[in-house]
Amino acid sequence: MKLKYHRINTAAPDKADASVLIIYTGGTVGMVLDHNKSLIPFDFQLIMNHVPTLSRFNLILNVIAFEDPVDSSNIQPDHWVKIAQIIKDGYDEHDGFIVLHGTDTMAYSASALSFMLEGLKKPVIFTGAQLPVSFPRSDAPENIITSIEVAAAKKNGISVIQEVCVYFDYLLLRGNRSKKVESQHFNAFRSENYPSLAEAGINIEYHEQFFLPETDKTFGITTNICDEVAILKLFPGISGNVVEGITNIHGLKGIVLETFGSGNAPTAIEIMRPLRKAVEKGIVILNVSQCVGGKVTQGAYETSRLLSEIGVIGGKDMTTEAAITKMMYLFGKGLSGEALRSSLVSSLRGELSDRK
Ligand code: ASP
Repeated sequence: MKLKYHRINTAAPDKADASVLIIYTGGTVGMVLDHNKSLIPFDFQLIMNHVPTLSRFNLILNVIAFEDPVDSSNIQPDHWVKIAQIIKDGYDEHDGFIVLHGTDTMAYSASALSFMLEGLKKPVIFTGAQLPVSFPRSDAPENIITSIEVAAAKKNGISVIQEVCVYFDYLLLRGNRSKKVESQHFNAFRSENYPSLAEAGINIEYHEQFFLPETDKTFGITTNICDEVAILKLFPGISGNVVEGITNIHGLKGIVLETFGSGNAPTAIEIMRPLRKAVEKGIVILNVSQCVGGKVTQGAYETSRLLSEIGVIGGKDMTTEAAITKMMYLFGKGLSGEALRSSLVSSLRGELSDRK
């Protein structure tokens, strides 16, 4: 499908160094205060008005904005599909892509897109802001400007970054390793289990040794996303009723089980019984840790050995955001049984460390 872009007037669009497509989905970055003094999404023109520097780039900058920009708490798989479709339709024409997105669910969307965009050889950079672009102390201009630089960066004519990332507060992180960890300060994102891919100072310093290896697959997208999944977070005192309630949800295919420490769970029969029954009736349970750093090692303690015994899969060092979106993607592709199991524990896009 031919997309209609809004072209930003830049310094030298005729002999531009690269072309970048900006996809505006909403988020604080472009919000304004309504009559209740609550922040609501506004249109992309607001960003243009407040970041005049955009016109100084020697780049072709195209923009496509969601008709109804959303607070990212309202992001749904349909929005991911829309983003994937826009990237696919603009893939040949652009060297890189920016997704302007709310910070609240950015790590989920970046994780989802990292799976849905297969054979990606160009940068897709998610960014946003903690303060609207119209506020004097907004972090939006820096986040947007550096993201564009990263999306346009090439070495020997080839994109430097060839994966889905989050750029925020001077750090470029792998999208499916990122987590929102801060709601007040500007350093909103961290990637505890994987080093940053670049750091912006006077120069942008790329850490090439941590990039994904180049893929030889042809670029394409998957748009079937399965929502018959749930996240079950354990806590001391969780009742068997709660676990049973979730495992009995009609049609449920998968559960991301957020456990303690290195993958431990209460051994009480009331908790273990519904989990075992769920696995027996075919629900896939993937164990990730509530800790932001470290990894799940089922069997290190008796409290996790039982999980292995009943068939729960250890999710290694994956974030919850990566684990749930990976499940949604793999079920959406129709995977089941051993193929699903082995995909869940292997790195598809660098979302987990393959080491034991
Ligand atoms: N609620 C906003 C959103 O996620 C927060 C932000 O963008 O920082 O859309």
